[in-house]
Amino acid sequence: MDVKWARSPRSSADGDDDKRRAPRWGGAVRPSMVLVGFLFTLSLLVLIFGGRWGGSLPSTSPSSSSSSSAVPEVTSHHVVAGGDTGTVPAQKTTIPPKNVSAPAATTLSQDKLLGGLLSAAFDESSCQSRYKSSLYRKPSPFPLSPYLVKKLRKYEARHKKCGPGTKSYRKAIEQLQAGRNVDNSECKYVVWFPCNGLGNRMLTITSTFLYALLSGRVMLVNVHQEQQGLFCEPFPGTSWVLPAGFPEGNPGKLHFDAPESYVNMLKNGVIRGDTPAGALPPYVYLHVEQSRLRLSDNIFCDDDQATLGKFTWMILKSDSYFAPALFLTPMYEKELSRMFPQRESTFHHLGRYLFHPTNKVWGIVQRYYEAYLARADEKIGFQIRIFPEKPVKFENMYDQLTRCIREQRLLPELGEPTAANATADGKVKAVLIASLYPGYYDKIRGLYYENPTKTGEVVAVYQPSHEEKQEYTSNQHNQKALAEIYLLSYCDKIAMSAWSTFGYVAYGFAGVKPWILIRPDWDKEVSQIACVRSTSVEPCLHSPPILGCRAKRDVDVATVKPYIRHCEDVGFGLKIFDN
Ligand code: GDP
Repeated sequence: MDVKWARSPRSSADGDDDKRRAPRWGGAVRPSMVLVGFLFTLSLLVLIFGGRWGGSLPSTSPSSSSSSSAVPEVTSHHVVAGGDTGTVPAQKTTIPPKNVSAPAATTLSQDKLLGGLLSAAFDESSCQSRYKSSLYRKPSPFPLSPYLVKKLRKYEARHKKCGPGTKSYRKAIEQLQAGRNVDNSECKYVVWFPCNGLGNRMLTITSTFLYALLSGRVMLVNVHQEQQGLFCEPFPGTSWVLPAGFPEGNPGKLHFDAPESYVNMLKNGVIRGDTPAGALPPYVYLHVEQSRLRLSDNIFCDDDQATLGKFTWMILKSDSYFAPALFLTPMYEKELSRMFPQRESTFHHLGRYLFHPTNKVWGIVQRYYEAYLARADEKIGFQIRIFPEKPVKFENMYDQLTRCIREQRLLPELGEPTAANATADGKVKAVLIASLYPGYYDKIRGLYYENPTKTGEVVAVYQPSHEEKQEYTSNQHNQKALAEIYLLSYCDKIAMSAWSTFGYVAYGFAGVKPWILIRPDWDKEVSQIACVRSTSVEPCLHSPPILGCRAKRDVDVATVKPYIRHCEDVGFGLKIFDN
């Protein structure tokens, strides 16, 4: 990992310590020895400074009542960080950030399973992030509906019964190869195919999963090499990975004009709404991509869903977070309101349910978090994304970011601290910057390196990597991208570039409403508005479907549905929100 080790002045002492320690993690010195030393020093500092770094460190650790008892547990936590083994219970091993404490009334096991969102049927050590990641965040602001929990457990049972390696799966594949659809098949499938970068993929997997939940299908994902080893299996006792040898879905065939696409089959008279299931082709392709700013293959109508429901096999490729369109499908409306009484928690809950970095990626996340972020009083994430199709000059983007910081008071002002602010002395705000480029980090870090703050707070600035360009097909590049999405999601406040699905995923996991750095108009170089606060923690669907269904009337749903509005960053996009 291309790690920037430079630190702000306030943290230069431990920064130096990190510099010395960092290379040794990959060398001959065992991480456990280094960490015992580090944590011993930390305990001493806590004693000496009366907890200035983390006064609540022992007491906020859910299981520890004294700093001395925390040491061996934390040590073992780090020993297992990068590996695939280790049986230390998650809640005993992590130092939660100072301002995060487990709610007293909930039990640890409930916490670990996010109130029942996660299945208890997994082996903990095989995927540590499943249990540890949430300890780095404040508790979810959105209560979980018991109905959703029931629905997920039911889904898991279905996936186990119909998933790869089962008799049902073999039978369904045989039928697909035989070139026919089957009437009333017990198991139905939706197969997800990848498109675009990691953020887009995570959003489309989530939308596809929501569709599978609503339509009684099993979701299988076609994992290309660049995505291998990123995520743990989300469903117990089975796999979500599409087995090799799946006979359909040649990437060259999955496009707008594909004759197998639902819309083209309808247009060409291959199928009709009343075609019996047994007379349908062996699969249907759903091309749910943005086309001329609209979502192609309009399938979000009851009639279409009734026809699509007859297919055993469905192949789906999408570049869009199409979950809002499911909320607009009349037949799913009631079910969705039971699953998500707070609609804007849709991605938040489903994303936290589905995505868990593998131990390898979690090692990156955990090392970085513990080294730089764990002891900050507040964490602020900035994600700066420059899109090739609408490049913004560095100085314009930097100016916009600093305007946003100033206007929204995201960071303390520069200047000599007043006597009244002396109490803030020693408080640390950690800024995490995610960007493909190093310039924003260099400049912001420089500001707080060279100047004091009026509040007396210390601002420590970090950037885990700067990859320079996106590499959709590089596995290593995607590991870093995933780690950074997670690190951003541990921030208390997030400001992010408009249009970025990378940022959407991070704030959705966090459950915080971000500030969005508005993109300049197409004919302008600068945006007059620096940033606006999002009204919701839901991602934006960039390209709305044409609704009105068979009538093909174009309806602006944002004006008729009380829980849909246009996105702050994409004027014609749609976003779920709660009042
Ligand atoms: P979007 O294009 O911003 O909507 O987000 P995507 O995640 O779909 O695609 C952008 C891709 O570029 C990411 O998946 C990464 O591969 C890369 N990328 C963009 N910004 C960053 C960043 O801040 N850090 C890292 N490591 N990669 C990034």
